[in-house]
Amino acid sequence: MILGIGPGDPRLCTPQVSAALADATDLVGYRPYLDRVAASVDAVRHGSDNRVELDRARHALSLAAGGRRVAVVSSGDAGVFAMASAVFEAIEHGDAAWCGLDVAVMPGISAMLAVAARVGAPLGHDFCVLSLSDNLKPWDLILRRLRAAAEASFAIALYNPVSRARPWQLGEALALLRDLLPGTVPVVFATAISRPEEQVAITTLAEARGDQADMRTLVLVGTEATRLIRRPGNTPWLYAPRGAPS
Ligand code: SAH
Repeated sequence: MILGIGPGDPRLCTPQVSAALADATDLVGYRPYLDRVAASVDAVRHGSDNRVELDRARHALSLAAGGRRVAVVSSGDAGVFAMASAVFEAIEHGDAAWCGLDVAVMPGISAMLAVAARVGAPLGHDFCVLSLSDNLKPWDLILRRLRAAAEASFAIALYNPVSRARPWQLGEALALLRDLLPGTVPVVFATAISRPEEQVAITTLAEARGDQADMRTLVLVGTEATRLIRRPGNTPWLYAPRGAPS
């Protein structure tokens, strides 16, 4: 089983995923994600750091081939910048017997959906999703995709905006967007959504800075059409109108 446990709040983990976790004999995943699985789940926990995805996938597949009921755990949705791809890559290039395993992928609530719901409905019209991490793809390709998304007026959700090893990428991405879009376009910095330390800041592209994000932040860039409804004493609502301007 390959599953996503949602963005943090246990209530945002689907009943299907909770049942699969309760049934598993082994949990495989990045250690902080395994720590979020309820202590009542009585399975062997194989925690790892976040740089060894393929090794982790192979390990899970060998355990499953040996008859264990293995849950490969990601945060959010396992298919969005997460372990599901690594598992299929390992199957395609690994032991032929792994193709015969009963692999199920269970959807989860991805960070962009939790963040969008938290601030209103900014992804209600066409949008696109990018990871700003250049660990697995060249920075040039990221800039090319970002430029194309901005030129096509997509709202943009940016995953992995920064990490300790990648401190400058978000600043450069915002600078590129400022060259292409009006400074009034709203930008959301949503950190650790649905967890106790949650933080949301809504600003404009003109004022957005790269140091407003950390590893737990999703950055949402609106479009010229994104509407903002001010609410005294509270964060404003943002929404994408149902129709795009013609
Ligand atoms: N599979 C996950 C994404 C993993 S990539 C999903 O579908 O959500 C890790 C990135 O996801 C982080 O750098 C951050 O950009 C985003 N993220 C994950 N959880 C988040 C949360 N609770 N709040 C805001 N962003 C989050």
